[in-house]
Amino acid sequence: MAACVSGGAAAGADDAAETKDAAPWRLPEIRLSRPVAHPVIACTADELARLKAAWAADGPAHDILAARFARADEAIKAGLTFPDEGGQHNQWYQCDKCQMALKTVDAHHHKCPKCGKVYSGFPYDNVLYARTHSRNLHRMETAAWAWAVTGDRKYAEFAAKVMLGYADRYLEYPMLHASVSDKSVDVAAQKHGKLKSAGHLWEQTLNESMGMIPLVTAYDLVHDSGVLSDDEKRRVETRFIRAMAECIDVHKAGKSNWQTWHNAALLWAGAVLGDEAMVRAALDRPKNGFAFQMQASVSAEGMWYENSWGYHYYTLSAMTHIAEGARRLGIDLYSHPLLRKMYTLAFDYVMADGSLPRFGDAVQDSPDRGVNEEAYAACGDERILAVLPRERTWDSILLGRDMSKQAELPEAASCVIPGAGHAILRTNGPGKLSAAMTFGPYGGFHGHFDKLSFVLFGHGQELAVDPGRAKSQAYRLPIHREWYKASVGHNVVLVDGKGQKEADGKLLAFAANDSYAAVAADAGPAFDGVRHRRLLLLAPTYLVVVDELKSADNKERTFDWVYHNLGAKVTGELPEAEAGLGNADPGFKYLRDVKAYGVGEQKQTVLTVAGEKVSTRLLMPARKGDQVFTGTGVFRSVDDRVPVVVLRRTGSRVLFGALIEPVAAGDSPTVQDFSALDGVPASLEEWYFVKHGEHVDHLSIRPDFTSFRLTRRERVGRTELLSADRPSP
Ligand SMILES: [Zn+2]
Ligand SMILES: [Zn+2]
Repeated sequence: MAACVSGGAAAGADDAAETKDAAPWRLPEIRLSRPVAHPVIACTADELARLKAAWAADGPAHDILAARFARADEAIKAGLTFPDEGGQHNQWYQCDKCQMALKTVDAHHHKCPKCGKVYSGFPYDNVLYARTHSRNLHRMETAAWAWAVTGDRKYAEFAAKVMLGYADRYLEYPMLHASVSDKSVDVAAQKHGKLKSAGHLWEQTLNESMGMIPLVTAYDLVHDSGVLSDDEKRRVETRFIRAMAECIDVHKAGKSNWQTWHNAALLWAGAVLGDEAMVRAALDRPKNGFAFQMQASVSAEGMWYENSWGYHYYTLSAMTHIAEGARRLGIDLYSHPLLRKMYTLAFDYVMADGSLPRFGDAVQDSPDRGVNEEAYAACGDERILAVLPRERTWDSILLGRDMSKQAELPEAASCVIPGAGHAILRTNGPGKLSAAMTFGPYGGFHGHFDKLSFVLFGHGQELAVDPGRAKSQAYRLPIHREWYKASVGHNVVLVDGKGQKEADGKLLAFAANDSYAAVAADAGPAFDGVRHRRLLLLAPTYLVVVDELKSADNKERTFDWVYHNLGAKVTGELPEAEAGLGNADPGFKYLRDVKAYGVGEQKQTVLTVAGEKVSTRLLMPARKGDQVFTGTGVFRSVDDRVPVVVLRRTGSRVLFGALIEPVAAGDSPTVQDFSALDGVPASLEEWYFVKHGEHVDHLSIRPDFTSFRLTRRERVGRTELLSADRPSP
């Protein structure tokens, strides 16, 4: 469990830190029994017996099996199509000009929904071939299960037809690579060099690895069916399973989710081929195997290093194939404490709408995942049980879950996850607000330049947005680099119109109780010559964000405080201004409907992002010379717009303070005023705000952001609401 702090406890960064387990985990002994007794890895004898028992009885379990086997019947009826070539990456399936996903007209025509341009041939057709290959292998697997459970030979024959069809074609398909859309490039010639991740059925060894699981499952299940001759078995084993394993193993990816999938493929292939060395490579190879990956790529709390929930679960599904496969071979990998943590960490992150913060290249994730049935069977954690389907599923039948057991998800607490570098703030007001801030290590290829960025959820809605990645996986397009991965797509501060570079942030302080939660962190070396520190304070009805940016050389700079909030548009009463936003940041070109304002003589800037169910008020103490810009930015695609506010200030040391209050439709705001004490000495920054009635809450922050105090001043006396203290270093 992560280092959660709740119920009035307070902790500084060091108190909250968690060290890796003291006793090093040891890989259990690897020994395969010979000869291979099939099925060796598709399932155990007990698992197959459970499926057969479900099939033999009447009831919902039988119906689930019947529904799956009906798909095998449909596949047999539909017949087989083997594409002429391998598949290509979905990233090609976009209009270059409009940066939008294409719509399929037919197998050879793919149309941009915006400009109408029709794309044809390679690599666009191949994106559809990729799906056909995948469908073929999954149909083969389904048919193999139907054979194994019902004993009806027609299913085994269909599965054999698919695997033999591919055994004849696999090595004949020219190799493709995700980065190469020029057919004249000899990809195979460079398979041992820069294009080593190329594949035959798909353009990446990653996808070949994913295809290995249904392939091995199907072969394992029909091996003893009598439909394959010895010669045919040899062809499937050498020209398909081993050939694919060899293609995959050319590419050793090390600390990478690719290697996790490669390991899964090698383990499954090695098991079904009876190749102990291949199984050993999957688990124990230095700098690549399962044992190495767990040690090098998972934080102490169980977060995959890429710091994106999408990739955490994507990797975890490969880990689960490895652990399940190993379990069937008598090797217990679930004994690894970090693997167990990988299944449960997300429960600490669940936001007010049930989703997980969209850090890094993620789209929309929740802890309700396909790996949970296996994880619950192995770990028995009640939180996993709470999100498992209450109705029978294929996996629950196979793994024999006791369906009478049920659990409810406990209320999650505010917490800090220092290794992954996240703080989760939650309060129990009417809107059940939740916020998350990221300050952790850079996630690599799938990480974003988002140090100190935050998201906010409330009243069951997503409000402050991190867009994650484009839904269409636009990795190769400028918008990915200039918007989704860039700082400007996040709730951060830009320095002289530029975003951050790769950086590890640093936790400075954290404290939480039932009503308040706060975190302070430093962006580390995200900017050359500028230090950025931020404090987030979550109260029952609002979030306060305080930033300090300081030039190391006292040089005057321009700072853009950027905020993205879901809703229709931004409104406010501000005098319009002439000055434009400029184009210093390449991401600014994705903004639309930009309007510029000044602040005149007002003490406070108030803007509202109107939403259907929830509107968000933004209150910022005004400073002379403030420039305010409103407009819309990009969410899931370039046409999916989110209101944006940019507050621009210049100076050698600049402070930003903002209070964000979500207000449900029909409710009134609780905050009347949010203002900063003017002329404060540099040693003390004090912010205060006035709430309903007589209450004035004061937030004071030590200049180095390592301690803070929130107190309520009433007519008589004062109450401390939240504080964190760390002695100065
Ligand atoms: Zn277009
Ligand atoms: Zn992001």
